[in-house]
Amino acid sequence: MDYKDLANLIFPNAKDITYYEEKYPERNLPEGAIVTRYAPSPTGFMHIGGLYQGIIAKKVSEQTKGVFFLRVEDTDQKREIENGVTEIINSLEDYGIQADEGVFQNDQEKGNYGPYKQSQRKEIYQSYAKYLIEQGKAYPCFCSPEEIEQIRNKQEAAKIRPGYYGVWAKCRNNTVEQMAEKIKNGESYIIRFKSPGREDKKIRHKDVIKGNVEFPENDQDIVIIKADGLPTYHFAHAVDDHLMHTTHVIRGDEWLSSVPLHLQLFQVLGFKAPKYAHIAPIMKNDNGNKRKLSKRKDPEAAVNYYSEQGIPKEAVNEYLLNIANSTFENWRRANPDKPIKDFDLQLNKMSVSGALFDMVKLLDVSKIVISKMTSEQVYQNALEWANKYDEQLAKILKENKEYSIKVFGIERGNKKPRKDISKWSDVKESISYMYDELFEKDNTEYLYQVINQKEKINKILELYITKYYNPQDDKQTWFDKIKELSGELSYAKEVKEFKANPEKYEAHVGDVSTVLRVALTKRTNTPDMYEIMQVLGKDVIEQRFKKAMQ
Ligand code: GLU
Repeated sequence: MDYKDLANLIFPNAKDITYYEEKYPERNLPEGAIVTRYAPSPTGFMHIGGLYQGIIAKKVSEQTKGVFFLRVEDTDQKREIENGVTEIINSLEDYGIQADEGVFQNDQEKGNYGPYKQSQRKEIYQSYAKYLIEQGKAYPCFCSPEEIEQIRNKQEAAKIRPGYYGVWAKCRNNTVEQMAEKIKNGESYIIRFKSPGREDKKIRHKDVIKGNVEFPENDQDIVIIKADGLPTYHFAHAVDDHLMHTTHVIRGDEWLSSVPLHLQLFQVLGFKAPKYAHIAPIMKNDNGNKRKLSKRKDPEAAVNYYSEQGIPKEAVNEYLLNIANSTFENWRRANPDKPIKDFDLQLNKMSVSGALFDMVKLLDVSKIVISKMTSEQVYQNALEWANKYDEQLAKILKENKEYSIKVFGIERGNKKPRKDISKWSDVKESISYMYDELFEKDNTEYLYQVINQKEKINKILELYITKYYNPQDDKQTWFDKIKELSGELSYAKEVKEFKANPEKYEAHVGDVSTVLRVALTKRTNTPDMYEIMQVLGKDVIEQRFKKAMQ
């Protein structure tokens, strides 16, 4: 009995690995092309950190004319949630992150290196496990979970490193005959890797993001095939990223400390190791403490949050690149109108310790993104959001399409477009006074400022409607008339004049404009009043002034 016989006893039907080596040949790509992937486990809602990884991986592959694929790591079937995969695919798609290969909607797959769902690759992993057993580099372990726990307790009591290694790795010393006999007797087992490492030796590794790191060698005989026949993450990672010809493993830095094990697996399997780029988690400033964005504590950790709030995808994409590379901000300043795909993202310029996520900044980015949209785009986006989250707004927008596009057109499409909308959930508040239906329900008081006595206000409004208002006026004439009106009522026609002789005037033309603005909108701050009046139209304006005078 030798290792080969043992391997055949364990995996009698597994194919020789040459079958897979030939089935998945080198990719034919230009030099420097990055082949990378997003490899989520469908075990919970989509975290913004996952989107961040996806965006980065997709971007660097695109920049180098490489390949980006989506691999579903569903080997931990106990932790899998319903619709986990669909949610991941939908979220990525929502943010424009299309994979070149991998798992797509409705369990479809695309690409020559599949299957891309690990649960469907069982026989591939078993072939490679068999290959290791044949060489005495992996072995069946018969320790029961209780025995493993006993080992751990002993290690804890003696204050030594936990794990299955060295003298603790009981089953690694079984003879082939002993192993075969136990198997024939029906004892249950898993497959462990026989680590050639020594804890007192160091390995050095250069991570694309973290730079040089040093770790003790791995000496743990980790599980590679579990009792259910599926691989552990570590083994699946090595086999898959080898067969799929991944050049760069871009993943969360919780895996950094597994690098010694992974490099060892690649080496023992005879594979060329990929480059690793370990991304630090997105951090949050919590009252002066920098901590990870937490699924439990922070609603903004969930990708869904952004769609619910109506923060446009373009803004989220842009902001995530912004925190990925600090050079983005300068690039954006120099290229305000370029699409983000023109930005050259550099993995080695990513933050080692974790970029800080700042909601205020995201909303600033978002404001700018929205300010560059056409009024039709704003209308469409706002309507799409409202259809899901605000029935009343959706109804208003649908019933007043042409009018709403005009509303969104106020101070838009010019050099300094309005920036008062940072998310679609702001829309209703920012335009409500443009719709009688909403304005009439607005019970707030009129917020008059400098000129605030009823008879003075009424005088201004009355005179404006009867004598000065003409919907045909161009902007200059319109404004000149407000000056005239101010003069007629003994307010200063120019602010300058008012400042020069403050004792002579009670108020100035700006204060008169404020009266008109408040009467029209109940607000002191709005976009351009001339444009607002143009859109509202004569009837509504007269009605509003009358209402204000009551
Ligand atoms: N399934 C692993 C995770 O979700 C993937 C890590 C990797 O990208 O290799 O953390």
